[in-house]
Amino acid sequence: MILHIDMDAFFASIEQAINPRLKGKPLIVGSRANKLYTVVCAASYEAKAFGIGSGMSTKEALQLCPTAEFVPAQQGRYIWTSEQIFEMLKVYGFEVVYASIDEFQMDIGDEADGQALAKTIQKQVRETFNITASVGIAKNWLLAKLASKLNKPNGIAIITEGNLIDVLGKVPVEKLCGIGKSSQEILHNLGVKTCLDLYQKSGDFLQRIFGKYGINLYLSLHSTDRFDTRDFDPNPKSVGHSYTLPYASQNPGFIRAWIRLLAEMVGQRLRQKNLASNTVHLWLNCPETGNFGAQKTFQQATSDGYEIYQRCLKIMAQSGLKTPRTKIPGVFMPRIRALGVTCGNLAFDSYLPLFTVQKRREELIKAMDKINNRYGDGSIYPAVVSLTKKMQ
Ligand SMILES: [Mg+2]
Repeated sequence: MILHIDMDAFFASIEQAINPRLKGKPLIVGSRANKLYTVVCAASYEAKAFGIGSGMSTKEALQLCPTAEFVPAQQGRYIWTSEQIFEMLKVYGFEVVYASIDEFQMDIGDEADGQALAKTIQKQVRETFNITASVGIAKNWLLAKLASKLNKPNGIAIITEGNLIDVLGKVPVEKLCGIGKSSQEILHNLGVKTCLDLYQKSGDFLQRIFGKYGINLYLSLHSTDRFDTRDFDPNPKSVGHSYTLPYASQNPGFIRAWIRLLAEMVGQRLRQKNLASNTVHLWLNCPETGNFGAQKTFQQATSDGYEIYQRCLKIMAQSGLKTPRTKIPGVFMPRIRALGVTCGNLAFDSYLPLFTVQKRREELIKAMDKINNRYGDGSIYPAVVSLTKKMQ
């Protein structure tokens, strides 16, 4: 079984956890400091109740709820908390992977009691970080992710062979991860309205409509104990992760922090497959200055997130991204909207697992310190302090 653990209104909940004055109130997390000229990056559940959602202009949001509280986004806090949650989940002894900054998947095998474990995790997340999580339990990652959305916030939902027909029959097909507007339209026209309708279609049928994606969709719906469609390829040529920021940013501190997180996600996926990589490819989507992509091959293969991150920084340094195009030498950073880290040139990793784990632990601590030191503006430090206080 797979547990899909999804933090509830992650960014807004962290702000509420740090500042108890914001607890229980409609809260808008904006992408910029100016309350009136920004977009909603995240909203608390209290704000969502007014119809406020991500991507909306804050002007519009404040019309819906004039008394809503406002704070600018502090992405360093969210990345840091995400890494802490990941570390915490690993202690349970099952394989854990990142699904996104606030979503994690855990493969608990067939013996463990999923519901009991979900409750324990929810409790630990609440007690440690003062935020809530919803957990979905199912035979594979796609259904577990779907289940995690069914009882939000602070909910648990389980999809078993016994209740599958009942549960999936009630969920519109577009709720399923990967079914966007165009797929939804195609499926609706074919009479596929619920997740159950989709689940009952054959692999051939889905392949005829969606090609290779259709096969992956079929496998993802029916497989057991798999994390991700990308894992159906036992010998991938490359392993990568990308992320679209809620807004374009040129803050070098948190661009680096994002690269750090993506590198960690890639490293973790490599280790899961027992692979190491020699080549790192960094990709940055910069709406104003054009896209940037460069790769570099290194002598030593690695599956270590921190090392992959260091290699990304080397690529940036060698690619003119840090050349003094601004008045401050060495800190040129274009406005970045999306970024991706991919590792290629893969080979089987020869490290002994225990050694890798121990080495990683040391690296992680180093990385944490480094990230903290780099946030010169102090934006991450208060979060670290107030969130770690609750750990004792
Ligand atoms: Mg979430």
